[in-house]
Amino acid sequence: MKRAIMLRFVVILLLALAVSGAFSYYFIGRNMLQHDMSAMLNTIHAVDYALDYSGNLQEQVEKLQAEAMDASSRITVIASDGTVAADSEVDRVDSMENHLEREEVREAFETGTGRDTRSSESIGESMLYVAARSSNGSYVVRMAVPYTNLLDYMISIFPVLLLGTCIAFAVSVILAIRFADTITTPLNEISEEMGKVHGAQTDFSFKQYKYKELNVISETTMKMAAEIQEHMDQLEKEKKIRQEFFSNASHELKTPITSVRGYAELLDQGFIQDDATKKDFYARILKETDNMTNLINDILMISRLEAKEAEVTFSTVRIGPLLTEIFESAEPIAADYQVMLHKECSPVSIEASAKQLRELIMNLVSNGIKYNHPGGNVWVEAWSENGKLYIRVKDDGCGISKEEQERIFERFYRVDKGRSKKMGGTGLGLSIVKHIVEYYSGSIRLESEPGKGSCFTVELPFKKRI
Ligand code: ADP
Repeated sequence: MKRAIMLRFVVILLLALAVSGAFSYYFIGRNMLQHDMSAMLNTIHAVDYALDYSGNLQEQVEKLQAEAMDASSRITVIASDGTVAADSEVDRVDSMENHLEREEVREAFETGTGRDTRSSESIGESMLYVAARSSNGSYVVRMAVPYTNLLDYMISIFPVLLLGTCIAFAVSVILAIRFADTITTPLNEISEEMGKVHGAQTDFSFKQYKYKELNVISETTMKMAAEIQEHMDQLEKEKKIRQEFFSNASHELKTPITSVRGYAELLDQGFIQDDATKKDFYARILKETDNMTNLINDILMISRLEAKEAEVTFSTVRIGPLLTEIFESAEPIAADYQVMLHKECSPVSIEASAKQLRELIMNLVSNGIKYNHPGGNVWVEAWSENGKLYIRVKDDGCGISKEEQERIFERFYRVDKGRSKKMGGTGLGLSIVKHIVEYYSGSIRLESEPGKGSCFTVELPFKKRI
């Protein structure tokens, strides 16, 4: 990556240097030409000032050129009719052509100054001509220096420009290497750190860098790693719960199956002659199969709720009639346990699955009956408040201690296992209640005191958010 950055940088740098070099080359060259021309004009004015136009011009011009000027420069004096009056490079000026049509001469007579570049017919070299009208207006004094084109100037400045370009290139390359390092070093460190990942190991230690984009990479990586870790922990937890559930369910089924098998064997071997005992054994077999049916039904219910089954049928459920229906089915058991049922319900309805609501209330009501004493009571209340449906099931039964309150919603958790089993309890009832409440994004609260009774309050939002 560093090589790629450097390579691109060098290409861009060379391009930039080439373009800027070409421009500065051209402008410096042009400036030098202009500077030379104005210097030539100054010399012309000095020559004009020094010349005595009534004397021997040829002599004066030769003398001036020899004493005060560069050997390569040439001075010519041209009269207003175009005849050459004097020339520092030509001895016999009368043989020279009329100069009136020379560009710089014509311009000088017309505007005061003139210039041109061309090959000299008299000395056969390419020259730069600069001319100016004499102060008396009758002559044009012209100066010429060898010149081919702008390149003459460019060549003279080429070494300086080349040196400047080389220094700029070297400094830029050093800076570019440093700049590339500030990007590639953090990226290397980040990728090295990311390469340390082994399975769920996600304890990265990233540095803080001066570019915030690089910090975003490390922060996002850490965030993603934390989320993956959390997800994996959750999966692990769910796997453990499922394993526990299966082992508990098999264990729960094993006991009734063993009892049923025991009774059936005894009956089969014909050891039991007494009709009353036989009847009792049949009744026990029926009770155990009922227990198994309850357990299997509860397990199926839980697995359906966990899978958030799509085919839950929703309808407008009127709580009043639903309570009446639940009380009708609970009445025989309540009578058995000598528990009184009471209900108080405002006319309220909710968009929900009637089956799930029945299951929820029935579980709470039957617990209120089962964990009670003869002469006890179960009160059921339902009302709506702040956009929520409230269902409260209260009893004056045995109550639940603070430590147990935390655990009774766990699957297969029973405070008094013997009592629960005797009453056909599966240990799954409150777990089902909790699942249904969560399915409706609601909540359940328990207040209880041992010996005084328990009160379960369910809160369900009317607008269901699954
Ligand atoms: P179970 O099938 O055993 O009733 P639940 O999940 O419904 O299973 O209840 C779990 C345990 O919580 C019960 O075994 C019981 O010990 C306790 N419990 C539930 N409801 C009450 C209540 N109203 N009063 C006292 N204890 C209760």
